[in-house]
Amino acid sequence: MVAYDLKSMDANAFISHEEILDSLDKAGAHALDPATVRAILEKAASYGGLTHREAAVLLEVKSPDILAEIFALARRIKERIYGRRIVMFAPLYLSDHCVNRCSYCGYNCDNKLTRRKLSQEELAEEVRVLESLGHKRLALEVGEDPVNCPIEYVLECIKTIYTLKFENGDIRRVNVNIAATTVADYRKLKDAGIGTYILFQETYHKPTYLAVHKGGPKRNYEWHTEAHDRAMTAGIEDVGVGALFGLYDWKYETLGMLMHAEHLEAALGVGPHTLSVPRIRAAEGVEAKDYPYLVADEDFKKVVAVLRLAVPYAGMILSTREPMGFREEVIAVGISQVSAGSCTGVGGYAHSHKLGFEDVVPQFQPEDHRSPIEILKDLLKGGYIPSYCTACYREGRTGDRFMRLAKSGQIANVCQPNALLTLQEYIEDYGDLELRVMGEQVIAKELASITNPKAREVTERYIQRVKSGERDLRF
Ligand code: SF4
Ligand code: SF4
Repeated sequence: MVAYDLKSMDANAFISHEEILDSLDKAGAHALDPATVRAILEKAASYGGLTHREAAVLLEVKSPDILAEIFALARRIKERIYGRRIVMFAPLYLSDHCVNRCSYCGYNCDNKLTRRKLSQEELAEEVRVLESLGHKRLALEVGEDPVNCPIEYVLECIKTIYTLKFENGDIRRVNVNIAATTVADYRKLKDAGIGTYILFQETYHKPTYLAVHKGGPKRNYEWHTEAHDRAMTAGIEDVGVGALFGLYDWKYETLGMLMHAEHLEAALGVGPHTLSVPRIRAAEGVEAKDYPYLVADEDFKKVVAVLRLAVPYAGMILSTREPMGFREEVIAVGISQVSAGSCTGVGGYAHSHKLGFEDVVPQFQPEDHRSPIEILKDLLKGGYIPSYCTACYREGRTGDRFMRLAKSGQIANVCQPNALLTLQEYIEDYGDLELRVMGEQVIAKELASITNPKAREVTERYIQRVKSGERDLRF
């Protein structure tokens, strides 16, 4: 057995290259043994998660029948933990100034772009457009530039967003995706009231990490990989991890992400709140075909399903990098959050509504161009409940408190009614007739399915109050 130490705060110890290689090396033979595969599936079916070694075996499965079983089990686990709700959010780009040279990103500092960051007035315009689309939960995105985009600027933006008031309700949760920083800066983000701190590893394979991060502070693999430890040490309870699939071998990245999750749980007591699974897309000066490790759709579905089996409690996020149609396929095997109507450039929302800048350079090209309301209708057709819920963070259900509820499956008891309430809000404030008909049918059906009479009665009463004009009712 390879020596590795999940409790160590040293990235090279908790993401052990040798351990990943050894796990992958042994997985192929185990995957050919029906008894081993069966035992792993039975363990996953008990909702207790899988180790990275067990997950490695499932990644090697090739039998169509067993793959179908893995996909069905992933769906069952997601529905048991979170119900059929799919949480909606939108990214909001504040600044594309960046001092890093990440080869896969349109904002790398070698690209000659006219850089910009939003003024507070421009930010307010962006948020106004996002609110008019129905969004309540945003993920802030910035490049890394301590001079042009210091932490104080990010804090000012968070304050502006939380201060803005709208007729149909305000932005209720701001998640933040900024570069790895110090414990002191993370404390400032915590004090500013952020939801989840998200940072993608991009690749867990250190030689590839060094090859694609050609310069800038992000090139420091250890500083970047240990960032979540510092964020949690600073008191941020919910952190999100992710890998950019296509930079290196997808099996390696999946195991790296699982070892990262195991490390956070072992060392800090709480695993990741979310897992993100972006795939490389074309961007300014970037051709996706230049990357030799692009992940085929079927393999990508397997990654999502195996992650759902391995880390059943984590929210799993899919972005508009995936095209319509395939998004539905992946949602079915374990995704719990999707972005909708995304603009991936600074000032993109006002621009797309002909309000702001004349041109916007996106960080990457999205593949799903549907508006939020179109996505909502498609989700409803697919049997899901689109949700704008932000209740947990605002009710103090974060960190280990959230994890206890998620791991026991009790979180679904609040996810489902909150999804119905926020869907009714959306119908009242942003919907059209078609959405009202579709949405209210689903709400009626879901209300009838709440087995606890008291919970059903309270939810029904809340729904009526939303119809009468009250907002932000939640469990
Ligand atoms: Fe900068 Fe982030 Fe793009 Fe790297 S990925 S160049 S850090 S914006
Ligand atoms: Fe997310 Fe909590 Fe709302 Fe469920 S109840 S959708 S976990 S915020």
